[in-house]
Amino acid sequence: MKPYYLLAVAVMGGSLAAQAQQNQSKAKPEDTEVWQPVPKSVTTSQQCLPPSDAVVLFDGKNLDQWASTKDPSQPAGWTVENGVFTVKKGTGNIQTKQSFTDYQLHIEWRIPGHISGSGQGRGNSGLFLAAIGGGDEGYELQILDNYNNPTYVNGQSGSIYKQQAPLVNANRPPGEWNVYDVVWTAPRFNTDGTLKSAARVTVFFNGVLVQNNYELKGPTQYIGQAAYRKAHGAAPIRLQDHGDPSEPISFRNIWIRPL
Ligand code: MG
Repeated sequence: MKPYYLLAVAVMGGSLAAQAQQNQSKAKPEDTEVWQPVPKSVTTSQQCLPPSDAVVLFDGKNLDQWASTKDPSQPAGWTVENGVFTVKKGTGNIQTKQSFTDYQLHIEWRIPGHISGSGQGRGNSGLFLAAIGGGDEGYELQILDNYNNPTYVNGQSGSIYKQQAPLVNANRPPGEWNVYDVVWTAPRFNTDGTLKSAARVTVFFNGVLVQNNYELKGPTQYIGQAAYRKAHGAAPIRLQDHGDPSEPISFRNIWIRPL
């Protein structure tokens, strides 16, 4: 480059910088204030009761929002008593009648105080964040008694089963209620069925972060590596009747806010 070109570029650069500085000096705080759209107001509760815009999936009275996974035309066969519902062993998984895509979910679960068993056979259930087939097909956030019960860490409560261990163990002792607050972003697929964007999940376990915007490798795979093998859209949320011989666990106060 000839020297006078360099001079011209330097002068232009200088004047652009000066211009930018001048624009910046004209800038006002108001320029970066956003006023629309106004977020909707919602009413909240200190006891984690459903906020005003939530879809209530269980309010302590009945399982009207749930169906049997074995036969989704049949009602959920689990037991409702004293404002909570309990797995009825052998009746199979239950799932929401409604399907969801992206959402915020609140759910409370309790391991019975007199729990027995060990490892994966101690209060095993599961929250399938999207149930995409029969049985246990879907993305499982593990539910298990890990208060004082070692198992493989990517299989303990708060884990994305067989994929990602929780950041900490936040289990409360058997007999006390545990809380999951979940933010789920469903995977997206291209029209040819290939993956466009993976599912992501954030989980608070008793108010403590245990999954931080984790990107899932695919639906839960009991044996082998997880992968996105089939495209799907909105899906029900499912709870697991695990089938291990330990005492059945209970649930209460379940609500969801589709996003
Ligand atoms: Mg499970």
